[in-house]
Amino acid sequence: MTRTLFRLAILGLLASPPLAASERDEIFRATIDELFPKLVETRRTLHANPELSNQEEQTAAFVAERLRELGLEVKTGVAKHGIVALLRGTAGESERCVAIRADMDALPITELNSKPYRSRNPGVMHACGHDVHTTVALGVAEVLTKHKNQVRGTVKFLFQPAEESMPTDYKEDWGAKLMVAEGALENPRPEAIFGLHCRPAISPASGLLEETRFLEAGQLAYTVGPDSANSDTFEVIIRGKMAHGSAPQRGVDAIVVAAEAITALQTIRSRRTDTRQPLVVSVGTIRGGQRHNIVAEEVRFTGTVRTYDEAFRDSVIEMMRQILDGVTAAHGASHTFDYRKGYPSIINNAGLVESTLPTFRRLFGKENVIEAVPGMGGEDFSYFAKVVPGFYFRLGVANEANGITAEIHTPAFDVDEECLKTGVAAMAGALCDFLGRE
Ligand SMILES: [Zn+2]
Ligand SMILES: [Zn+2]
Repeated sequence: MTRTLFRLAILGLLASPPLAASERDEIFRATIDELFPKLVETRRTLHANPELSNQEEQTAAFVAERLRELGLEVKTGVAKHGIVALLRGTAGESERCVAIRADMDALPITELNSKPYRSRNPGVMHACGHDVHTTVALGVAEVLTKHKNQVRGTVKFLFQPAEESMPTDYKEDWGAKLMVAEGALENPRPEAIFGLHCRPAISPASGLLEETRFLEAGQLAYTVGPDSANSDTFEVIIRGKMAHGSAPQRGVDAIVVAAEAITALQTIRSRRTDTRQPLVVSVGTIRGGQRHNIVAEEVRFTGTVRTYDEAFRDSVIEMMRQILDGVTAAHGASHTFDYRKGYPSIINNAGLVESTLPTFRRLFGKENVIEAVPGMGGEDFSYFAKVVPGFYFRLGVANEANGITAEIHTPAFDVDEECLKTGVAAMAGALCDFLGRE
């Protein structure tokens, strides 16, 4: 017997044929119900011990240990504290691979909740729900390990550090971008990647644009196409000439020039770009001047620009440059313009969304899978979704009746832990269905 034949024979003995999707759903549901107390405990352990971006040492050690216990092939130290793990299914021979990503870091926020599992690290909090994302991915690993015979191919788990870092924090790459650079999407390369994010509220695509509604635990929301924005930062320094406040004609007033420049920047959105192209140009800080009776020599302002389209983003940068050049020249001032491109926009792959939605609707009911309006936030899942088709969806975590409604990135944020079941079921179902499709 050749080696391959021998392997096939062994696999044949081990593998029972994968079940029909609805039967498999029932078996997974029972396993998830059984696992629920462990999921809650895992989430609370992570929640109580949050770590900031690129400091996720204990979180990564905890995750790696769990994955090794399950028998996955585990690689640690990817992009500092990231982990790549492989789960090989036994439902027949298959070279196929699909990936799931969970981010692990927390935020510099002091938690206001008084729950027993509140943060034990002063000034650090899982206020973005990455404790939930990590727990869901660990839950998926456990469910699929228990039911390997339903997995036709390989599931790659990416536990990512440093999603919450801001582009100005570091000179080098970090987080998702660094994981990609270090080969996390190679050997094997997944055909698609799935990610989810906790959301207590959404704007439904069917409603008015500004309308928001709570997304309850048990519900999911999604977008087709853009899901987050190109999230950039800029700093402008306007330089004028100092003079006595009583003799402004002897100086160049950087405050007046900055005021004019900031006002003119607003015309990019209102007068110069296609009204159907989403765009934000916001100035968030401004500092300048020395004293009430001195003409200011220097003003510094910083802000953010949000777009979906990359070519459009470049045209906005060019318009900003024109305005700054023109306004400062008109007044005899000078300037420096430092523009930093941040996380790119997540573009949900239309084909992948379309092929995954039937899984979600089957699991949770049509009424609980809601199309949402994309936001202008930033998220570095986009670096993975630029390499392979990606689908990043929203996991409902609110429970309005129990008062769990606080937004992410706020000190009162919490989740209805029932969301853990939804997250694990959604991911396990989506991954198995993906691998099972021809
Ligand atoms: Zn966040
Ligand atoms: Zn987040």
